[in-house]
Amino acid sequence: MPELPDIVVLTRSMNEVLPGRTIIDATVNQPKVLNKTVEVFISLITGRKIMQIRQRGKWILAELDKNLVLAFNLGMGGEIILHAAEEKPDPKKERVVLHLDNSKQLWIHFWWFGHVHLIESTEIHCHKQIGNLGVEPLSTEFSRGKLSDILSGRRGRIKSYLLDQRVIAGIGNVYIQDILWRARLHPERKANTLSDIDISLLHQAILVTLQEGIRYGGGPKEHDIWGNEGRYPEHYQVAYRTGKPCPRCQSIIEKIRVGSTTSYICPRCQT
Ligand SMILES: [Zn+2]
Repeated sequence: MPELPDIVVLTRSMNEVLPGRTIIDATVNQPKVLNKTVEVFISLITGRKIMQIRQRGKWILAELDKNLVLAFNLGMGGEIILHAAEEKPDPKKERVVLHLDNSKQLWIHFWWFGHVHLIESTEIHCHKQIGNLGVEPLSTEFSRGKLSDILSGRRGRIKSYLLDQRVIAGIGNVYIQDILWRARLHPERKANTLSDIDISLLHQAILVTLQEGIRYGGGPKEHDIWGNEGRYPEHYQVAYRTGKPCPRCQSIIEKIRVGSTTSYICPRCQT
């Protein structure tokens, strides 16, 4: 499932090729991914010029002219890949195809289910999911004090809050593993038991881990617009490394169940 670093990598690659291009037609093979009827979607999007592409949480927001935003959410996983106009998409696989004015097309593919929503720029804060997203962890707004405020008085386990998109936007079950390891926190730890030092370490761990994910081109099976796969898995600390030594203390990494999610932890470092 794509998370913030993967979406940043994809967004950056989209910004290298899409701004200034005009969408000349669209093919919709799975109407339920839209927030409009196929007819309305195609009529609104045809002739629109693509401006800038932005990332917000796990969403990709492509600003179009005429104050429209084309919002993509890849759900459990998916791809937005650039192809030449003469290539033939598989209608069972490519949910939406956008035809561009430079003899290229964008194939939008979801492994399971995703969204392609067309929204008025002025209405974006009212969008049911985007409008309710929490703080963007790589923004200047996400200070150590902000994290402290977010967690104060929370009695649940720390992992649940970090994964809650309405609290902090963009973290999922891949990057959370190394975030908690760097912060030396057990995923079951109650959020309101964190000391000032714990919060500083956690704040730093979130920034470092997400930036590493971006630096290495994103996570497992995640791709940029040209189909290059992320290399962050080569740099995992504890994630998906059951039975291997902890890079810090050499204890054996364990795989445990935390609520409905899987966690990889160093039983010695993380308390
Ligand atoms: Zn350790």
